[in-house]
Amino acid sequence: MIIDCHGHYTTAPGEFEAWRKAQIAAFESRGAAPAKSALKISDDQVRASLEGAQLKLQRERGTDVTIFSPRAAGMAHHVGDAATSRVWSEVCNDMIHRCVSLYPRNFVGVCQLPQSPGVAPANCIAELERCVKELGFIGCNLNPDPSGGYWKDPPLTDKWWYPLYEKMVELDVPAMIHVSSSCNPNFHATGAHYINGDTTAFMQFLTSDLFKDFPTLKLIIPHGGGAVPYHWGRYRGLAQDMKRPPLKEHLLKNVFFDTCVYHQPGIDLLLKVIPVENILFASEMVGAVRGIDPETGHYYDDTKRYIDAIDWVSAEDKRKIFEGNVRRVFSRWKQ
Ligand SMILES: [Zn+2]
Repeated sequence: MIIDCHGHYTTAPGEFEAWRKAQIAAFESRGAAPAKSALKISDDQVRASLEGAQLKLQRERGTDVTIFSPRAAGMAHHVGDAATSRVWSEVCNDMIHRCVSLYPRNFVGVCQLPQSPGVAPANCIAELERCVKELGFIGCNLNPDPSGGYWKDPPLTDKWWYPLYEKMVELDVPAMIHVSSSCNPNFHATGAHYINGDTTAFMQFLTSDLFKDFPTLKLIIPHGGGAVPYHWGRYRGLAQDMKRPPLKEHLLKNVFFDTCVYHQPGIDLLLKVIPVENILFASEMVGAVRGIDPETGHYYDDTKRYIDAIDWVSAEDKRKIFEGNVRRVFSRWKQ
């Protein structure tokens, strides 16, 4: 089985975005927020939005299941307040649940958390529990910077985040560390802010004892780990200078990288540098980069193709990347 551990619902019907716009407009004008029931999208609309996009690409590329979450840029935790974020997260997660219910063989759910800048992450516990226990979700996306590019909250290793980690451990669900949109004009969202977020999270873990406190916590750094695999020597050297343990024992029981790297040399490097046990197959389709690479004639985000093309990784190791590791990290999932 080929499991794509990183897909977002980026093709929701227009009514979905319209509801969000109405919610934001109501917040800004201090008017009455739209009711959740005001969002009317039929099952046929949901099917159409998936058939022409994720499902078509799954079939074309030969992937079986996508671990599916709300659109990352759409989380926009910096918009509105904690109440805005709570209701928006519920609406987004319910929408993912509908997709999974319509196509249970193709999708499994991962939730958005109702984060808000300056609000303790413990505030997300109720929605995480609802999604895992009632909707059958198997993980969450955790935004390390709810302020959207200004990094105003404590690092991921601060005790500020611990109540949420305690609940993740209790529920046996991992988090993908995933920023949302950028409202800092210095940082392009998918080109800079995403990769910054990935790299920053890794360095926070390196300088902390987070995994001494949470030996079973599982965190996925997407987009191939940001700059981390490319600069692995720098991180090993920094850990050494700081008298931290070697990275393999310090972080790699808990930190995993996905394969959302959109060219062959990048995937080659990832697989050469990072132990195979720490790599999970993913494409992030339909997502950050939607075009076709004129040098290859294939979609940039058709990441399965890059892994298939490597002849120096054994079939057994490829099975770990495509399925075994994903199942080990998302261990709540029994399908
Ligand atoms: Zn993503």
